[in-house]
Amino acid sequence: MTGDDAGRLAPDGLLPLRAVIAQHGLSARKSLGQNFLFDLNLTRRIARAAAPLTGFRIIEVGPGPGGLTRALLAEGADDVVAIERDERFRPVLAEIANHWPGKLQVIEADALEFDPQSLSPRPAKVVANLPYNVGTALVARWLETAWPPWWSSLTVMLQKEVAERLAASPGIDSYGRLSVLAGWRAQVDLLFDVPPQAFVPPPQVTSTIVRLIPRPHPLAEAPLALLSRVTAAAFGQRRKMLRQSLKSLGQPVEPLLAKAGLDPTLRAERVDIAGFCALARALGDATASHGG
Ligand code: SAM
Repeated sequence: MTGDDAGRLAPDGLLPLRAVIAQHGLSARKSLGQNFLFDLNLTRRIARAAAPLTGFRIIEVGPGPGGLTRALLAEGADDVVAIERDERFRPVLAEIANHWPGKLQVIEADALEFDPQSLSPRPAKVVANLPYNVGTALVARWLETAWPPWWSSLTVMLQKEVAERLAASPGIDSYGRLSVLAGWRAQVDLLFDVPPQAFVPPPQVTSTIVRLIPRPHPLAEAPLALLSRVTAAAFGQRRKMLRQSLKSLGQPVEPLLAKAGLDPTLRAERVDIAGFCALARALGDATASHGG
């Protein structure tokens, strides 16, 4: 930094993001879902939605040039682990790490391959403006972990449509497998929308900040693997009645439905989470007694 920069620093004492991007000659790569947030009010708002930050390991996926990372640190995070795949951001992230000694660790990795549980154990929170192309897969993975999970909250920006799927109830178009897996184990809250114009470059769609807090106990008993199977079968053919869509489970369907107390003419979109759990348990009993 030169003496000339001193008058145009951001409140955290670093150069404003636009200047950082220009200085390092960075541009957004569409293939990596890069849409950056430069608005300090917005990044601060996202960081605050995950409060308290102090005392937790904050896992940030995709820090990019570090707008949200900087907000997390300024809001009191003292142990941020940022996982970024694009090595072009290494120098910028190193500058932030130097500015906040001992508080930011950058891991250059594909978040789909890196397991945060490989880090030393600490209460952890995930806070991220997720790349659209991997956001759904990551949230599904974090939900399909051993329970209680390694994270105590997920505060993530997703495509609005995906966020709505996480929070949807039966009877709504966006209700699907992701809604069941999320609502079964977590309290899901849609916090606020972020319009395309807030990003550089603007994406095609509106985004939503969603927060998931793990339930102490899942809504109803069910083995995850079987719940995963029954929801995949039922929503795989969501417009068909259960007596048809569940044939792919390879078990006689009517007894399964009778045991779960579900009407065979129902469609997946009408079955609540407790209903899917009952179906998963019935499938478990059937496979135990039929050996299949
Ligand atoms: N956090 C920054 C912000 O809010 O301005 C950037 C968010 S941008 C939507 C998504 C970021 O995720 C990019 O920096 C991109 O390089 C990174 N990314 C994309 N795929 C990734 C992956 N599989 N693992 C880790 N980072 C990834």
